[in-house]
Amino acid sequence: MMSHQKIRFDHINQRIAQALNNISGECETSSGVKLLAVSKRHSVEKIRQYYALGQRDFGESYLQEALEKIHQTADLQINWHFIGPVQSNKTRDIACYFNWVHSVDRLKIARRLSDQRPAELPPLNICIQVNIDLEEQKSGFSAEQLRQQFASIIALPRLTIRGLMAIPKQQTEMAEQRKAFARLRALKDELNHHHKLHMDTLSMGMSGDLEAAIAEGASIVRIGTALFGEREG
Ligand SMILES: *Cc1c(COP(=O)(O)O)cnc(C)c1O
Repeated sequence: MMSHQKIRFDHINQRIAQALNNISGECETSSGVKLLAVSKRHSVEKIRQYYALGQRDFGESYLQEALEKIHQTADLQINWHFIGPVQSNKTRDIACYFNWVHSVDRLKIARRLSDQRPAELPPLNICIQVNIDLEEQKSGFSAEQLRQQFASIIALPRLTIRGLMAIPKQQTEMAEQRKAFARLRALKDELNHHHKLHMDTLSMGMSGDLEAAIAEGASIVRIGTALFGEREG
């Protein structure tokens, strides 16, 4: 569910400010888009600034850095999203400290997260990462692998499979950017139909392609640079 956000983004890049102001002004409609503030390699002070403006969802990619920030902001009600590559030896901490994981790219990782999700917490919200352009250097299921293994993933008891995530190949033309996002949307619709599910999330769109992602039905855009500036370190 999208929360009402009153943040204005007028201090940042005009084009992105426009797109973000549009979504943050929206009510809870079927076209509601949630902003995930990607705070990796940005300071806790910046997280607190956006929190004070009403932002509640923050995304991190590196576990050690994330755990320190989670500890340092224990006084806040942040929804933490893990969006980086998940190594098997990191699943226990991820299952304990995060509300969402967007980057589940193997059945083995899904099994471990389900097994290790603490009993006193609600099921872990999951997006399955799809390698939508079949790029060698990127992780994620191919559409074909996902079709084959999907039944095993949705059977895992301590996960709530919310939808799909992708990081498409970098393209400068909006028409080209949209094609990859449209394929991800079609795959979600197909899986929902085939398995009689109601997955509600397409985690797609970053600073460079958020308008295209929104045009193709993104429900969560993951924005770092356009919000916080260039990353530190
Ligand atoms: C870093 C990162 C982002 C944010 O990227 P920006 O280009 O800074 O907006 C989004 N998604 C993932 C998976 C990332 O690793």
